[in-house]
Amino acid sequence: MEENKNWWKCSNCGYLLQEAEPPETCPSCKQKCAFIDTTCYTPECGGPGNIDPKIAQNK
Ligand SMILES: [Zn+2]
Repeated sequence: MEENKNWWKCSNCGYLLQEAEPPETCPSCKQKCAFIDTTCYTPECGGPGNIDPKIAQNK
């Protein structure tokens, strides 16, 4: 995992990907979805480069 990239979750299908910026179109469901930043910013979940499970499990 690369620490300079953020984790993004598709709000439509839940697809997770690690990129600097979220894609315009989701690679999984092919929709123009809102991507949620699920990057961990606290030591609890391991810091940057990791997914924050609390955010990732929210729909
Ligand atoms: Zn999607």
